[in-house]
Amino acid sequence: MTTDEMLARLPDEQPDFEELQEVIGRELKGKLFARRIGMDEDPFSLSPYPHWECVCTACGKKFEADVKDKLKDMTVCPMCGGKVEPHRWMFRRGGKLTSAFLFYHLFRGIGREIWVRSWRVSQRLNWDGLEIDYEPMSIYHFEDDTAEKWKLGWQGWKPIKTIRMDTWKPNSFSYEYYPAFVGAISKKTIKGSCLEYSQLDRAIEYEFPLIEYIGFYLKNPSVEYLWKSNCIRLLCDYFNGRKDDVRRAVNLKAKTFKGLFRGADKREMKIIPQLHAREIIWFHWLYQAGVIRAD
Ligand SMILES: [Zn+2]
Repeated sequence: MTTDEMLARLPDEQPDFEELQEVIGRELKGKLFARRIGMDEDPFSLSPYPHWECVCTACGKKFEADVKDKLKDMTVCPMCGGKVEPHRWMFRRGGKLTSAFLFYHLFRGIGREIWVRSWRVSQRLNWDGLEIDYEPMSIYHFEDDTAEKWKLGWQGWKPIKTIRMDTWKPNSFSYEYYPAFVGAISKKTIKGSCLEYSQLDRAIEYEFPLIEYIGFYLKNPSVEYLWKSNCIRLLCDYFNGRKDDVRRAVNLKAKTFKGLFRGADKREMKIIPQLHAREIIWFHWLYQAGVIRAD
């Protein structure tokens, strides 16, 4: 699909704003943001004396603290008495707070199509309180045999070859990434779509990367049997960097549950769900050689 076709076909659906607010609320719960005013780091301040300016997200109140106080000791809000986690209130980047995250929203298109949009969400602290700000980041399009991605750049939407989940961090030197959240997915969205049998809700519950999981499922629909036979350890292996082991242990192209583990008999099949990929390979080898028994 070309970018123009994509834009024409993209359903005009925005994420649930209230849900976003709730996610942010959870993210910001019990935090205290503080910045020093009237010092070198704040050259534009009109304040005649140096002090800490603080905002508590539990009660939403602003207050001042002695400039000699240490940020790490500010663990109780003097306004509401609530326990808070102190954070430096960054005023770079147009006044955005450091707390930010990626938000994924999944919605239905025509036929069996599924679209996923991601946003960079951050909040701006105005005089009247916290204000949400979200910038579009990527658009993903999935069908039974298609996975496509576009990313928003300076020159508009651009197709991206590698269909991976987005990452976002404070700067290119940072080792820490902002967290990612997936918005609620209704049954109506999934029913009759290319992800109907994908067990996506369970994949999200296990915190598998959303986009990678969808891509993996579309290429290997047999993943459904792995969930249904409780081979959770195998799936965890796959999303924890042991893809090759998983491919050796399981025939992902199988059309039936029995076909997943070639050459395994009934007794082996009973034990397999408790094993990791590497253990399955060894177990099968030793069992077939008659070295160990399956009971
Ligand atoms: Zn408070």
